[in-house]
Amino acid sequence: MNCPFCNTKDAKVIDSRGIDSGAIIRRRRECLHCKKRFTSYERVERSERLVVIKKDGSRVPFELQKILRGIRSACGKRPIPEEVKQRVADEIDDAIHREFEREVHSLAIGRRVAMALRNVDAVAYVRFASVYHDFQSVSEFQAEISDLSEKPPTKAHEPLLFDHRTPPTV
Ligand SMILES: [Zn+2]
Repeated sequence: MNCPFCNTKDAKVIDSRGIDSGAIIRRRRECLHCKKRFTSYERVERSERLVVIKKDGSRVPFELQKILRGIRSACGKRPIPEEVKQRVADEIDDAIHREFEREVHSLAIGRRVAMALRNVDAVAYVRFASVYHDFQSVSEFQAEISDLSEKPPTKAHEPLLFDHRTPPTV
């Protein structure tokens, strides 16, 4: 999406919400070049509507709000600004829609949320991972925690969805 002020392409999404039952996505963007903000309304085509396949095999519509809720509950009372949580959810939303056309397994979403949280807050990550990561045993869970404390998260594992070193702008 080009900036309406300077016409460059580098605008980041700073807020995103579905309206009209998710059929239209309202995105607030900030141009990285001229720093001006603008809003776009994008109609979500039927074919773009993703279906999530849950662990029990049932299918539900993909909802950004569910991702955000999962992130919020994992963060709990950790000192993580709401805008950071929203940005993480947005990045995941974008990545999922880029990668999957019609269906996405809930575990694939959970994995991405876990990876993103890992770069935001270790406690939130472990909380989230313990629920969604499907650890098979206590030792596997402990191995992940010790792995986390020995090796700080790096960019090497997977494309980074959220870079915690970039201070969020308001
Ligand atoms: Zn601009």
